[in-house]
Amino acid sequence: MELLSSKFVFDGDKLLKDKTIAIHNNIVKDVSSKKILEKVYSLKAKDFGEGVLLPGFVNLHTHLELSHLKNKLPQKKGFVEWLSSIMYEKTKDVDSKKIAEHIENAVKTQFKSGVRIVADISNTLASCEYLKKYIPYSTVFFEQYGLKKEKACSAAKNLEENLNNYKKRCGQLKLIPTAHSLYSTHSCLIEHLAGLNKKEPFSIHFLESRFERDFLISKGGMFDFLNSLGLIEETMNYTDVFDYIKKLGISKRKTIFVHCTYANKNELENIKETGSTVCLCLRSNEYISGKLPDIRTIIKSGVNIGIGTDSLASNWDLDFINELKFIHNNLNDVNPSLIFKWATANGAKALGLNLGFKKNQTAFAVFMPSDDNSPLEEILSGEGEI
Ligand SMILES: [Zn+2]
Repeated sequence: MELLSSKFVFDGDKLLKDKTIAIHNNIVKDVSSKKILEKVYSLKAKDFGEGVLLPGFVNLHTHLELSHLKNKLPQKKGFVEWLSSIMYEKTKDVDSKKIAEHIENAVKTQFKSGVRIVADISNTLASCEYLKKYIPYSTVFFEQYGLKKEKACSAAKNLEENLNNYKKRCGQLKLIPTAHSLYSTHSCLIEHLAGLNKKEPFSIHFLESRFERDFLISKGGMFDFLNSLGLIEETMNYTDVFDYIKKLGISKRKTIFVHCTYANKNELENIKETGSTVCLCLRSNEYISGKLPDIRTIIKSGVNIGIGTDSLASNWDLDFINELKFIHNNLNDVNPSLIFKWATANGAKALGLNLGFKKNQTAFAVFMPSDDNSPLEEILSGEGEI
């Protein structure tokens, strides 16, 4: 058992003053005054002093294995150009040691910026080794894609045959097979993935660009681009995006809908109804197209909101505090406590975890110094780097 105290504690929901936490193996046993807990447990509290104690941040969306692509992809040229560039980068033969080095540095950046749970999207599982070592409470979404039916169906079969081996490779991390997006993945593969384990969360890139809605009626810039590569075998005609989501079985899972840049009120309502989550990756949206989602409408919808940095292929850095600062700068009328809630308890909720400094919750002791009486505001102040 350990007693932890600091001038302020953010419990995943609210900022509290003069509280001490009794914690054992990352499970909160008690929250009270220092005087009482020191007496009850006959222990001296470790006092961090001026600043705020947090239960740890949850980076709800990143692709650590793309960390070697920093500064390699075009900024603000729009989604189709970015997509075409990343597809080209992925054809290059890159030294696996170099990739691993960049992943390790990216994981260390996560830890240094207070992240204690990562939801990493991975095609290669190369991040598992480093997440196991530094951030072992993380989830790895083993992402599958493929538009051509034959490739998509063989990915489903391969996964079925080898899933236990993949899980072994990831050790104590949670490994969950998932789909990349509606525009990159054939329906037979998405349906297969969504049907695998309904108790586990699912994750999918969703309405990230204005081209995605058009893609579902087989038109627009992204459809034309993918068609020109010979990847489209069938046309679609879904004028209601959620009709397709329902048909695929995604709405039966608590899903992390990543980006939602172009999600409308109806779609947000559907996401909320299924107990799913919107994951904001604002700097990634800024990097790729300079267009952010309508965050106020997302807040108003009452849907669960989490925060991700996305990858170094579409962000300037993976520092989680810089991500929060960017959100704060774009939403300076929103109480910083709400942004910290998205960044902690709400992100964890999307992963089925109960994170915070309340009794029986999971928590990590992340301390951020601040001599201000509004420490959350102070942490979020300043430009952040973009
Ligand atoms: Zn992503």
